[in-house]
Amino acid sequence: MVVLPGTPDITIIGAGPTGLYAAFYAGLRSMQVRIVDSLSEIGGQLTALYPKKNIYDVAGYPAVLAEDLVKSLYEQCKQYNPEIYTDTKIEKLEREGELLKLTSADGRVMYSKTVLIAAGVGAFTPRKLEREGIEKWEGKGLYYFVKDPTIFYGKKLLVVGGGDSAMDWAMALGDKSDMLLIHRRDKFVAHEDSVKKVRAMGIPIRTFWELKEIHGEISNGTGKIDHVVIFNNKTKEEERIKVDAVLCNLGFITNLGSIKDWGLEIEGNGIKVNHAMETNIKGVYAAGDIASHPAKLKLIATGFGEAAIAVNHAKTVIDPHASFFPGHSSNKDDKKEEKKHATA
Ligand SMILES: Cc1cc2nc3c(=O)[nH]c(=O)nc-3n(C[C@H](O)[C@H](O)[C@H](O)COP(=O)(O)OP(=O)(O)OC[C@H]3O[C@@H](n4cnc5c(N)ncnc54)[C@H](O)[C@@H]3O)c2cc1C
Repeated sequence: MVVLPGTPDITIIGAGPTGLYAAFYAGLRSMQVRIVDSLSEIGGQLTALYPKKNIYDVAGYPAVLAEDLVKSLYEQCKQYNPEIYTDTKIEKLEREGELLKLTSADGRVMYSKTVLIAAGVGAFTPRKLEREGIEKWEGKGLYYFVKDPTIFYGKKLLVVGGGDSAMDWAMALGDKSDMLLIHRRDKFVAHEDSVKKVRAMGIPIRTFWELKEIHGEISNGTGKIDHVVIFNNKTKEEERIKVDAVLCNLGFITNLGSIKDWGLEIEGNGIKVNHAMETNIKGVYAAGDIASHPAKLKLIATGFGEAAIAVNHAKTVIDPHASFFPGHSSNKDDKKEEKKHATA
C-alpha cells in the first residue's frame, strides 16, 4: 500500500470542467488542492467525447471549442499549482477520524480534509451497436466518438443515429465528407434547429434504415472498410453501400460504479446534495453532472456555479473563522497594489 504524502484541504474527484473550475476556486481561497481523474487526460466529457465541438452556452464565449475551454480552465487553475493525478480511479472513500481516506483502483491511499466529488456521470461508455462481428472494426473504420474529425475529411462516411451528437457531426462534417445519415426511426431526438440545418445542407438522410454488416479487410492491426450493408426495418429491403468509415452516435451508457458503495445518498444516477452542495457525509461535497437536487440542470454553466458553492462551503469546514463569501476576485489586484504601496 502506497500512501501519498500530504493532506490537502480538498481533494477533487474528477477533472472535468466542474472539477477544474473548483480547483481554481479552491486556490483562490488559499486551499491546497489535489485533483484525481481516472482518465489519462483532464477535461472530462469535453476531452473524451467532443474535443472538436463548439460549445455555445458557456458564459462569456459566443462559441468555444471544447478542447480550448479545457485549456483555459487548466490555465486558470494552474496559477495555484494544484496536484493533478491522472490515471487514478478512486474506488473507495471512507471517513477516518477527522480525515477522509481515498483509495485508488491500483491501491494508492490518500488523505484529505474535505472531498468534492465532481465525477460527472461516473464512468461513461458509448452505447455500442449490437451486430455480430462488428466489434472488430472499432477504431479501424468504425467509431463511436470523434477525437480527430480530420480523419473523415474527403471520405465516404456513414453516420448512424438521430440524436444531438449525430446532428452535430453531420453539421460539422457534412461539407467535408461524402456523407449519408441513417436513423432507425423517423423521429429525431436532436434539437429541431439542428435537424433543420442538416436538411438545409442537403445531407442525404434515410429514416427507418439501420446498419447490418461491415465488410472490408483487416490485417496487421489496421483495417479498411470497403462497404456496408444497411437495411430498412419496415420493408426489410437491404442495400450495399460503399463507405470508408462509419460513425455511430447512439448515446452513452453511464455507470456510477463503486461510488454507489461509498455510503452516499444516491438519487437516480446522482449523489443527493443540499443547498450547500453537501452530501450526507460530513466534509464530502458533490457538484456538476453527478450532483442531484430539485433544480438540477446538467450543464457546464451550472457545474461552475455548483463548484463555487461547494468549495466556499468546504472552506468554512476547514477554517470555521473563514467567511463563506469569498469576496470579489476583482479586488485581488487592489490588494496587490496596497501591498506594493505599503512595502514601497
Ligand atoms: C456530445 C456532448 C455535447 C455536450 N454539449 C454541451 C454543451 O454544449 N453545453 C453544456 O453546458 N454541456 C454540454 N454537454 C454536457 C457537459 O459536457 C457536461 O455537463 C459536463 O461535462 C459535466 O462536467 P463535470 O465536470 O461535472 O463531469 P465530466 O465532464 O463528466 O467529468 C467527470 C470526470 O470525473 C472522472 N471520474 C469519474 N469517476 C471517477 C472516479 N471514481 N475516480 C476518478 N475520476 C473519476 C471522469 O473520468 C471524468 O473525467 C455535452 C455533453 C456531450 C456528451
